Amino acid sequence: MSSLWRLRHDLRPYWRQVLIAFAALVGITAARLVIPNILRDVVDRGLTSGDRAYLGEAALLILGIGLGQAALTFLRRYTSEWLAQHVAYDLRNRLYDHIQHLDFAYHDQAQTGQLISRTTEDVRSLQRFAGYGLVELLQLGLLAAGAVVLMVGAQPMLAGLALLPMIPLVWVTTRFGRKVSRLFYRVDQHLGELSTRVQENVIGAAVVRAFAREDYENARFDRSNRDLYDARVTVVSEWSRVMPTTQLLVTLSVIIILWFGGNAVLRGQMTLGEVVAFNGYIMLLGMPARQLAWLVNSGGEAAAGARRIFEVLDTPPKIQSPPSAVRINPMRGAVAFRNVWFRYATQTDDALRGIDLDVPAEAVVGILGPTGAGKSTLVNLIPRFYDPTEGAVLVDGHDVREWDLATLRRQIGIVQQTPLLFSTTLRENIAYGRPDATEEEIIAVARAAQAHDFIMRLPEGYDTVVGERGITLSGGQRQRIALARALLMRPRILILDDATSSVDTETERLIQEALRAWLGGRTTFIIAQRITSIAHADIILVLQDGRIVQQGTHAELLAQPGLYRETYHLQAGDDSRA
Ligand code: ADP
Repeated sequence: MSSLWRLRHDLRPYWRQVLIAFAALVGITAARLVIPNILRDVVDRGLTSGDRAYLGEAALLILGIGLGQAALTFLRRYTSEWLAQHVAYDLRNRLYDHIQHLDFAYHDQAQTGQLISRTTEDVRSLQRFAGYGLVELLQLGLLAAGAVVLMVGAQPMLAGLALLPMIPLVWVTTRFGRKVSRLFYRVDQHLGELSTRVQENVIGAAVVRAFAREDYENARFDRSNRDLYDARVTVVSEWSRVMPTTQLLVTLSVIIILWFGGNAVLRGQMTLGEVVAFNGYIMLLGMPARQLAWLVNSGGEAAAGARRIFEVLDTPPKIQSPPSAVRINPMRGAVAFRNVWFRYATQTDDALRGIDLDVPAEAVVGILGPTGAGKSTLVNLIPRFYDPTEGAVLVDGHDVREWDLATLRRQIGIVQQTPLLFSTTLRENIAYGRPDATEEEIIAVARAAQAHDFIMRLPEGYDTVVGERGITLSGGQRQRIALARALLMRPRILILDDATSSVDTETERLIQEALRAWLGGRTTFIIAQRITSIAHADIILVLQDGRIVQQGTHAELLAQPGLYRETYHLQAGDDSRA
């Protein structure tokens, strides 16, 4: 419940609406509390004393109160629903924003499905509660307090007796509330797992089919689905046990009033109207008491949702700009590694072991090495996607941890082997980092990336939509679009992480030529499988098992025995056969 209490901060900007909702609430409660009093007078003055005129007055009064109550109820429902929508809107934005700023290491461990279910399901259950449950709960509290005060004021003894069954009732429902909150946390957790499974299978559909693992995946899905089902059924069965108990306890109160109140009337200690009013109060109490279980139920669900939401919001991004950060713009682009060790949180082996490296500004660095050698890891430390476990990465002589993150990252362009393109037009994809780019600039970078010609052959050219609702591009085409996107940022440091692996050799040569013209004055890191892609580099690194095992120019490395020369001869042999 403490997670729910934290939501008060989210309500602060809307204090006016909160006030309106609360005022409406007080009005409605007062109206409901006054009705049993009128009924008492109807019985005692109207019926018992035969005052016909009062009967008419009372009817009009009740009608007036009813109308007022209807108007206030509308106001209350409207403002509370409005509040709920706004709080949910703010929360979703905050969550999304926060998730975007969480570091790569967090995303390595977090399940996408869980994050998605937090931004959708959990926010929705909170919204449901904030829009309906919370106000209802407040109203219930006010109503209960009002009814108890009025009952005790009128007949302390009878009130004490009639309220006795309410004690176990409150105990039962609050215990239920605590239990149900834990259960809902489990339900939400299972829901998150379920969406992770669905997501993996939709994205990985080709892999599942290729390995004929549909049955296995179905079984896995079934297990997650069953867990969710079990958790939900437990909630429902708990609830079905609490509901009749609370009803029974309310009935007990009514019986007590009829018995003791009735006897008091016969003895002349109470009027008939007073017993009727008393019964009215117990009914007023009884209705919300029965609702209490339902409300506590939805409160429990909301509390679980809030807990899951705050779990994400409370995770501080490990990678953040320091207070007085370095903001050099434009940077020169000199990069240095000082005894850098790195290990992924999920691994037991180091991915990088003691990397020492000096790259002057504007140099071209080629990186070669077997899969898993640590090539991507090495370049990912430059824009600070991860921080080294030991040692430091410097850009322009400053530790990247001292840089302002945005200043650093905006000047580093990265093109990955399997780049992500967004489901929008090619033009917007290329201009992703600079939405204000002119048509000429976009075409210039597309030409350099050897993408312009194939784009122009598409029916809608730069307006072609890619992704789910558009065309499917080949791996090489995607890589070229991603390259154009990176070039448009005019980065001071360009990182091509196996970025032309799916492009044919001839196109790659054209890209290399265009890049050389384009990249004059940029530090460039090129990770490649083909030696031809990096032969022109000023510095070539050969990486193996997280270490730099060879370093030099193409000519120097060819002159010495080692992995580089072996790879060269192997690939030269391949080429002459091809
Ligand atoms: P390369 O780019 O040379 O193929 P990587 O830098 O991708 O090598 O990987 C180096 C090692 O780190 C490998 O053992 C790989 O399995 C591991 N690794 C890479 N990325 C991650 C990650 N996000 N989480 C955990 N381990 C990773």
